[in-house]
Amino acid sequence: MTIFSRIIAGEIPCYKIAETENCFAFLDINPLVKGHVLCIPKREVDYLFDLTDQELCDLQLFAKKIATAQKKVFNCIKVGEAVLGLEVPHAHIHLIPMQSEKDMLFSNPKLKLTPEEFEKIAADIRAALS
Ligand code: AMP
Repeated sequence: MTIFSRIIAGEIPCYKIAETENCFAFLDINPLVKGHVLCIPKREVDYLFDLTDQELCDLQLFAKKIATAQKKVFNCIKVGEAVLGLEVPHAHIHLIPMQSEKDMLFSNPKLKLTPEEFEKIAADIRAALS
């Protein structure tokens, strides 16, 4: 079981953003910027492009909804999307509110946020979804 499956199962805590029948979104614990979200399929598949066509479409449409909410909350130019998957073998899409191209550099130092800051960011995105 991947760490992300354990998050979905509620065994490991996360700053949850949203959930559908097939998808789940939560804050990245090592964010590049405030509001860095991960969108994952509930089915445990390592490589994004091993998802079925339907699963991939569902995940992308789910990500679109989250990105729309992020855009409302953060004063960003656009929400960038990235797929790496080199660390956690459970497909995931990074959604990153961008002020510039540099915000998408995964070699950048990660932000250190307090639990209260994470909670506030997650609550703001959830509120913008509804
Ligand atoms: P990658 O597989 O290279 O796309 O990177 C995995 C991402 O998952 C990294 O940005 C991590 O910070 C993030 N991550 C790993 N464990 C957790 C966790 N328990 N909660 C939230 N994000 C996580």
